[in-house]
Amino acid sequence: MNKNAIAFDFDGVIHDLNDGWQDGKIYGKINQSVIEAIYELNKMKIPVFICSSRAPSQIVDWWNSQDFRLKAKVIDKDTFFFNDTDYIGVTQRKLPAQLYIDDRAYKYTGEDKKGIILAAIGKEVI
Ligand SMILES: [Mg+2]
Repeated sequence: MNKNAIAFDFDGVIHDLNDGWQDGKIYGKINQSVIEAIYELNKMKIPVFICSSRAPSQIVDWWNSQDFRLKAKVIDKDTFFFNDTDYIGVTQRKLPAQLYIDDRAYKYTGEDKKGIILAAIGKEVI
């Protein structure tokens, strides 16, 4: 059965960013719960990809140097629907997915201008 992919953000999800961006190196503590969830989704034959503004090769090199059960690969630039479960895909492009798991996301449910500004800055100004 082919299911739509689940996308994971990298910084702040797969590893923490508690010490900030610094020089762009990947140094955060790995979030083992997220890694376990990725394994579980993969077992269910649900494709998983990582979508990040970082260079995909940096994430792939980092991922493949960990002791993870699955390997990661950069998603080919011609791929639009990622549906591979042999590996974890990595891309900078916002590909179609059934869900994006991101520490900075806001689930939009039709809010008006006021609701959007409130979500963006945490207070009402209009
Ligand atoms: Mg993030």
